[in-house]
Amino acid sequence: MIEFIAVEKRYGDAAAAVEKLDLTIEDNQFICVIGTSGSGKTTLLRMINRMVEPTNGSIQINGEYTTSLNEDELRRKIGYVIQNIGLFPHMSIRENIMIVPKLLKWSDSQRQGIAERLIEKVELPLEFLDRKPKNLSGGQQQRIGVIRALAADQDIILMDEPFGALDPITRDALQEMIKRLQQEMNKTVVFVTHDMDEALKLADNIIIMDHGKVVQYDTPEAIVKNPANDFVEELLGKRQKQTYFENELTVSDLMHTQAEAISLSKSIIEAISQMTEKKVDTLLVVDDQRHLKGFIDIKDIDRKINKATNIYEIMRTETSSVNQNEKLADVVDPLFNMELKYLPVVDDENHLVGILTRSSLVSLIYDQLK
Ligand code: ADP
Ligand code: MG
Repeated sequence: MIEFIAVEKRYGDAAAAVEKLDLTIEDNQFICVIGTSGSGKTTLLRMINRMVEPTNGSIQINGEYTTSLNEDELRRKIGYVIQNIGLFPHMSIRENIMIVPKLLKWSDSQRQGIAERLIEKVELPLEFLDRKPKNLSGGQQQRIGVIRALAADQDIILMDEPFGALDPITRDALQEMIKRLQQEMNKTVVFVTHDMDEALKLADNIIIMDHGKVVQYDTPEAIVKNPANDFVEELLGKRQKQTYFENELTVSDLMHTQAEAISLSKSIIEAISQMTEKKVDTLLVVDDQRHLKGFIDIKDIDRKINKATNIYEIMRTETSSVNQNEKLADVVDPLFNMELKYLPVVDDENHLVGILTRSSLVSLIYDQLK
């Protein structure tokens, strides 16, 4: 349990970065902290592991004052992950995963087997442990980044906008993964985000901050049903005022217009380089007029690279897609049942115009709770 007791943070004479705060986080909870930029999210997070010292008040972890723990003891209890700390290119995947246990000076026997157990948890082959990051796809590297955060087995993991810079598809996949690992491994995760969809999808409880104040701390359901004030309603966005199952709302209202695609005349090498650069495991395939033709998956490339020379030869053509003018209510089933983590969206001439992800579906479901 993490307890904030009359905690306050001030920098000089400016308005408090975090105003006087009492708050409890129970064990094994996934907590999201959300608010606009400058609202005090990072400050709140960093006070937990004393990267920032409170001006007043105190924080206890399982009844112990954090001020009674030295730096090493704190780092053993609390992991910290920030955005965009990529893998170290010159180290193997195993060395990357084991970097924190090594920094914490774990013995060889304590380190035994950890990398193997973690890589199995995210369904990647053991032989990847001896590869360098550049020999994994972008999406696979991101998965290693997440398990690296869990390798030292701290009970509490602090994450500051870890997926902030990712494209929607990779982000969707990593959200599902971190939520599953948090539950399986009984972690307490405090996760800063500025994306309400992400918070609604991941959190057991959400802390909403505005100008240094916690304006609401509750379950996603309670927040959606009873927003504490106009600011919370605004964060919930237009969604709040609408029902997606009303007839007027269509796929185009909810889709991401950014869709990673490649022309079918391109080579496999170009596809791999685009996947690496964009950190995705799949690419939609289009022709020169951007008609949707299929998709390619990194797995197929691994298997067929010697036989095939261009994308046309290895792409899968059985892609399901939805029309941008379809009613949202009618695409819920395909979204649940799709082979991809997302559905390509096309216009009446089958031009690719966007994608619909599973987290879009989450906003639909929360909207239905009201
Ligand atoms: P968020 O993470 O929500 O964007 P922060 O916690 O980083 O917000 O910042 C909250 C407020 O505290 C902001 O007004 C910011 O300018 C101020 N602040 C944060 N760190 C410092 C610092 N080291 N010195 C002075 N002011 C700071
Ligand atoms: Mg911040």
